[in-house]
Amino acid sequence: MKFTPAKAPLTGETLETLTARLAGRQEPAFRAKQILDWVYKKRARSWDEMTNLSKPLRTWLDETFDLMPVSLITGQQSTDVTDKLLLELGDRSLIETVIIRVPQEGVGLDHSRKTICISTQVGCAMGCVFCASGLAGLKRNLNAGEIVAQLLQVCYREDARTPRARQELASFDNIVVMGMGEPLANYDAIIRALTIVNADWGLGFGARRITLSTSGLVPKILQLAEEPLGIRLAISLHGATDEVREQIMPVNKAYPLAKLLPAVKAFSDKHGRMVTLEFILIEEVNDSLIQAEKLRDIALDLHAHVNLIPYNTVEGLPWKRPSNTRQERFADILRNSRVSVTLRREKGHDIDAACGQLRLKTEKDREAAIASA
Ligand code: SAH
Ligand code: SF4
Repeated sequence: MKFTPAKAPLTGETLETLTARLAGRQEPAFRAKQILDWVYKKRARSWDEMTNLSKPLRTWLDETFDLMPVSLITGQQSTDVTDKLLLELGDRSLIETVIIRVPQEGVGLDHSRKTICISTQVGCAMGCVFCASGLAGLKRNLNAGEIVAQLLQVCYREDARTPRARQELASFDNIVVMGMGEPLANYDAIIRALTIVNADWGLGFGARRITLSTSGLVPKILQLAEEPLGIRLAISLHGATDEVREQIMPVNKAYPLAKLLPAVKAFSDKHGRMVTLEFILIEEVNDSLIQAEKLRDIALDLHAHVNLIPYNTVEGLPWKRPSNTRQERFADILRNSRVSVTLRREKGHDIDAACGQLRLKTEKDREAAIASA
């Protein structure tokens, strides 16, 4: 289903496209930058705050653009470290954006490092059997403006929590594109959104602090490798042989490991940076020691980092996480070969698990959240 908003979201405009729109009104070239400064640097929440713009221009902007295309329904602090923002889109679809606070030694939570997990689609078409995001299929792609707006909503919230001592661009440290949806199936919108997030006229957020996770759309990984953006890549591997991967990720039929792994290598060669292999540990599915050995070989070959994620159970799905001992035995096989590996089990501290939790929310829960808001 395609959604065409009544007004274009301002957060989907680049400096170039906005300048072109304003040129039609005989506005000077600096005007677009001035407007984007109000949005991203001064965090204006209404056109009337933009006091250096004439009233007729503000009226035209209001008629032409939607200043904020997503609205905050609830912001729930679910644990001491994760905040979930439930956001409503123009067609009333709901998405979640998660703020994960990683406490730093000796400082309070307000000064912790913050990672923001953003969504790129409503639902997902990829059909991975363990994932709640794809259970109801794909509803629609988010547009670039809706993707950028999730981050601005986080800025509004964080600005209110910790008043900024100086004019900061963003109020967080990392962005992970690991929320609902397959980002590379919505390629143009995610690239445009991250370009806006990265640009100095936008959020000015460093590309090296952005990680995009994909289930493995090979042609798009190769296309991403050619982008000048320079973001980091994570691959949802979850199976170290075709036999295992194919059982849980239908995408493996179109892009088996013999196609996926060379594409990942091409990406890391091009960018000279380690790619992350995400591997959810699911009991009796992919947690055998043979899988660990195969994963070790893949990681060594790609010089990749491995992130082991104990599975988060999803209501209605039969999969379970293995015991702690089994998780450790799996991890040890990688560690013993000096593969760079993380296995985080503390609840909430695990970014991927926290993002994975997004999928635990059903539409029903969401309706309940709205009702109680
Ligand atoms: N579609 C992309 C990005 C979103 S998913 C992708 O699949 O990479 C982000 C991560 O959460 C993926 O690695 C995904 O496999 C994982 N995930 C999905 N369901 C999960 C669950 N129930 N428990 C733990 N991780 C899960
Ligand atoms: Fe989609 Fe990623 Fe979930 Fe697979 S794991 S269904 S690609 S969101």
